[in-house]
Amino acid sequence: MTRERPPAAVGMAIEEVDTPALLIDLDALEYNLTRMAGAAAAAGVRLRPHAKTHKCPEIALRQIALGAVGICCQKVSEAEAMVGGGVRDVLVSNEIVDPHKLSRLAGLAARATVNVCADDAGAVDALNAAAGEHSVVIGVLVEIDAGGDRCGVDPGEPALRLAGHIASSPHLRFRGLQAYQGRAQHIRLAPEREGAARAAASAVERTRDLLARGGMACEVITGGGTGTWAQDAASGVYTELQAGSYIFMDADYRANRTAEGGDYSEFRQSLYIFTQVMSAPGRSYVVVDAGLKAVAVDEGMPVPDGLPGVPYVRPSDEHGMLDVRASRRALRLGEKLRLVPGHCDPTVNLHEWLVAVRGDRVEAVWAVAARGVGR
Ligand SMILES: *Cc1c(COP(=O)(O)O)cnc(C)c1O
Repeated sequence: MTRERPPAAVGMAIEEVDTPALLIDLDALEYNLTRMAGAAAAAGVRLRPHAKTHKCPEIALRQIALGAVGICCQKVSEAEAMVGGGVRDVLVSNEIVDPHKLSRLAGLAARATVNVCADDAGAVDALNAAAGEHSVVIGVLVEIDAGGDRCGVDPGEPALRLAGHIASSPHLRFRGLQAYQGRAQHIRLAPEREGAARAAASAVERTRDLLARGGMACEVITGGGTGTWAQDAASGVYTELQAGSYIFMDADYRANRTAEGGDYSEFRQSLYIFTQVMSAPGRSYVVVDAGLKAVAVDEGMPVPDGLPGVPYVRPSDEHGMLDVRASRRALRLGEKLRLVPGHCDPTVNLHEWLVAVRGDRVEAVWAVAARGVGR
C-alpha cells in the first residue's frame, strides 16, 4: 500500500512534528489501557476491545498484553490487518454477507481464531459454505438488537431460531450472543444512559435463558461500549466487554455526564490532532491547517486544547478557524496547537500515522494499518 510520508521520526521534539498529524499521549493511553484492563478483571468480565477505534496492531497487542482475550473488528479488512500484525483471536462484531468477503474471512480462520456475528439464516448458509470450502469451523454469535436500532434479530424467539440454524450448520459453531447498544453510549444523562443499558441487559438475559431452555447454552455474551461498560460489567449478563473509544476518548464522550453531573473523565484524553496556525489575518479568527480532511466533525467540532473560550468553527477541506475573540492570549502565525477530536474513530481513519509522544518527545510512529473504508 502506498503511504503518505510519516509526519515525525522517533526521537523528534514534538514541535518538529509536521502538521496536521495525530498525536497520542502515551502516558494517557497507558493509563486508559491499564484502567479498563483492571476494571474488567475486577468485575470478572473478559475484555475484548474494539479495534475499529485505533486500526493499529501495535495498540491491539498492548491491549492483549494487559489481559484482553482478543479484539473486535468491524470489517474483514480490519481483521486481516490485525491478524497480519500478530493478533491471534478476532471477533468480527458485525454482519458479513458478501461471498468474496466470506471467503476471505474463512481463509483468515485457518490462521487465527475467528468468530463472526449473524442476523440472517441465508447469510449463515453462505458463511457455512465458505467455511466448508476452506475446511475450517467458524464460531458464530447471534446478534440481537438490544435497542440500538442497527443490525441484529429481535431478542427472544428470532434469536432462538437463528441459533438453532447455526448449531445445525456443519462448518459453524454456535458461540452465543452479541448485543451492542450503540445508541446508549452517548446518552448524556447518567440515569437515562444506565436505563438504556439496563433495558438491553434484560433483553439479553431473557434471550440467554430462552436459548438455555432450548438446549443452546451461550458460552459468550458480548457487548458494551465506553459509555455503558461499567453497568454492562456489573449486570452479570455479559461475559465480554467490547469498548473501544476508552483508549483515546473524544469531546463527545467527555460531554456525557456522570451520576454526579460532572464531565465523563474516567479515562484521559490521549488522542489529539496536531495543527499549525497557517494564517493570522488580524481578524476575529486565526486559521489552522486541520480541516475536514484531518478531523471528523460528525459528532461535533474538535476542541482546542488548553485554550478556553476559543472555539474551532467553520471547517472546510484544509482549513479550520479558531475564533479568538475571547482568547486570553494572541495566537501567532506558525504556532502549533492540539485539538481534541469530536469523534475519535472516524478521525483516526483520516490519518495514515499515529505519532506516539511521551512528554515532548516522539517515542514511536505507528501505521494506521487497517485504515480505509473497510472492505
Ligand atoms: C463501536 C463499537 C464498539 C465500541 O464502542 P465505543 O463507544 O467506541 O467504546 C463496540 N461494539 C460494536 C459492535 C461497535 O460498533
